[in-house]
Amino acid sequence: MSIDYGNDIYEEPLVAKTFLQEDVQEGSLRPRTLQDYIGQEKVKENLSVFIQAARKREESLDHVLLHGPPGLGKTTLAGIIAQEMGVNIRITSGPAIEKPGDLAALLTNLNEGDILFVDEIHRLNRSVEEILYPAMEDYVLDIIVGKGPSANSIRLDLPRFTLIGATTRSGQLSAPLRDRFGVTLRLELYTPEELAQIVSRSSGILGVEIVAEGAYEIARRSRGTPRIANRMLRRVRDFAQVKADGVITQEVADQSLCALEIDHLGLDPIDRRMLGAIIRNYGGGPVGLETLAATIGEEAVTLEDVYEPYLMQLGFLTRTPRGRCVTQLAYRHLHLPIPGGNTDLEAMEQLELL
Ligand code: ADP
Repeated sequence: MSIDYGNDIYEEPLVAKTFLQEDVQEGSLRPRTLQDYIGQEKVKENLSVFIQAARKREESLDHVLLHGPPGLGKTTLAGIIAQEMGVNIRITSGPAIEKPGDLAALLTNLNEGDILFVDEIHRLNRSVEEILYPAMEDYVLDIIVGKGPSANSIRLDLPRFTLIGATTRSGQLSAPLRDRFGVTLRLELYTPEELAQIVSRSSGILGVEIVAEGAYEIARRSRGTPRIANRMLRRVRDFAQVKADGVITQEVADQSLCALEIDHLGLDPIDRRMLGAIIRNYGGGPVGLETLAATIGEEAVTLEDVYEPYLMQLGFLTRTPRGRCVTQLAYRHLHLPIPGGNTDLEAMEQLELL
């Protein structure tokens, strides 16, 4: 079965790491309170204690580091923290803060208790990071005015703000920066049940009719990630409107996701190419990440941040000190002969197509 969507917006991959055009509407789907924020129970439990304690003491919240793969709700959570604390939030990202002066401008414009959210905080440059340390620790800013022998260092007092940093790779954060966060929370991939709740909630907001099995079908194919679940929902909605009276049933979800080349576990063509390349070119592994990325023509960071977490959760891929290896489960999923077993020519031919 094929679907003609009529325009090329749908050529963008569902699993894209970056923001897609359609994600602009994400704002309306973002939960605004901890209660509406589905899943991540441990994180919510801890956060609600810290928020209540800070409010009771009438202090700003300790600096918080959120880490986990993209699309799991880090930005959303930062917004919720601001809402629950009753303070303003300024949102920026590591690469956007190019010079110490950019950070100084952001910090001096905050009010007492406000939140500064820095996405991709591992990408801050060193000179910016260095002025962040005293700002986080003592709420002061040391800036150099002038140049050469007449240069002067002046110290500015800052409001007691909260820094919320988000990162997909906490390992890349420098130790001094990591140590200055009082609270570190790790977001985990969501279960299909939690994602089904998110899909149902989003359909309500978008005004789309969906049955429970339809929501579950999208959920179990959205690789543990709410952003992907919401993207899939929008695309399945289009399909349902054109082909099925606007109601998302399990069948409609299944057919439209198959047409988008998303398989029953949520793997997309890049996942399959990645597993296929490890098997075909490197005998199942180990193979280094950079080599693998070059083989399939993707960026190594994208493979590491976006694709690997889910493949590892499924148990299809392992990371070893010598590189990436695929497991027997992956061979089975791709219907390929497991090494050491009988060679199945038909399956080998299929592999060539991957
Ligand atoms: P990140 O900052 O981790 O990349 P976002 O906070 O931008 O992720 O979340 C992406 C989208 O997923 C949001 O627009 C929101 O609609 C949805 N989302 C994320 N987490 C949840 C959640 N726990 N419950 C409901 N929706 C969520």
